[in-house]
Amino acid sequence: MNWITKIIKAGEKIKTAFHERATKEDIAKSDWTSCCKGPILKKDLENNLFVCASCNKHHYISPTQRFDIMFGKNNWQKIESPQPPPDPYNWQDTKKYTDRLKDAKKITGQDNAILSCEAKINDIEVVVSAVNFKFIGGSISMAEGENVLASIQVAINKKCPYIFISASGGMRMMTNMLSLMQMTRMTVGINELRKHNLPYIVVATSPTTGGLTASIASLSDVCIGETGATWAFAGRRIVENTEKSQLPENFQTVEWAQKKGGQIDMVLDRKDIHPTLGTLLSILLKQNSVISSEQNETSEVSQSLTREAS
Ligand SMILES: [Zn+2]
Repeated sequence: MNWITKIIKAGEKIKTAFHERATKEDIAKSDWTSCCKGPILKKDLENNLFVCASCNKHHYISPTQRFDIMFGKNNWQKIESPQPPPDPYNWQDTKKYTDRLKDAKKITGQDNAILSCEAKINDIEVVVSAVNFKFIGGSISMAEGENVLASIQVAINKKCPYIFISASGGMRMMTNMLSLMQMTRMTVGINELRKHNLPYIVVATSPTTGGLTASIASLSDVCIGETGATWAFAGRRIVENTEKSQLPENFQTVEWAQKKGGQIDMVLDRKDIHPTLGTLLSILLKQNSVISSEQNETSEVSQSLTREAS
């Protein structure tokens, strides 16, 4: 066998290996997925709230799956929000932005990256928004900003707490400045909640990064991190190159942020998030009712008191 034949045979082997590799569609349709110990039945994972029983890895779940886990199927009502013009810059990179949007809608079944609902936790009415990371990396653009503002308005109208479940790569580059503006708009929305003395809780799931960490995810009265979740602004490599130093293994996790930065108040397993939210809300609302009776209290003081209550 000469060297040309050898190369051709090797090429054929590589080709076969690639052909045999499962596609994304194959993986989605399969009953199996994988974790630390190899293949694991999706059904088994689902029965354990999509958390691996061996290594406690919290696998990604969509907002719909999370709402079903938190409130039970059919126990939450979707909040509709305005749909702004989708593509004002007529953006195209390797693909048209409008096509990316179409694909994201098809994959997630959502109109935009955020799904919001009205529900109850321990008989307490709440408004909850959750970000779908599978919708263009959970990036935030105008439709997502509108969704957050519409949800906050519902919370204010109903005088109930607002919960934000984050998972995002940041602001959406395809809509440029109009995306960045959403950081300010969402911040203004949270300030409106404060003016009405309503509790605001964040649940940081993986990954919470970029402009979301730099705005709405960092403004809560209480910030809960889901076990193992990434919590960051810039990516690890960027920080490493800037600092020119070796970063700890658990850098940019919610556990690290809780111990070192104090940005995360508590880290909880998925199963403990719902009951803890119930307890926290009971405490915060009781405290808020006391504060409301104090006519001269400023909203800043009220917030510090609700923090103390937690
Ligand atoms: Zn595992």
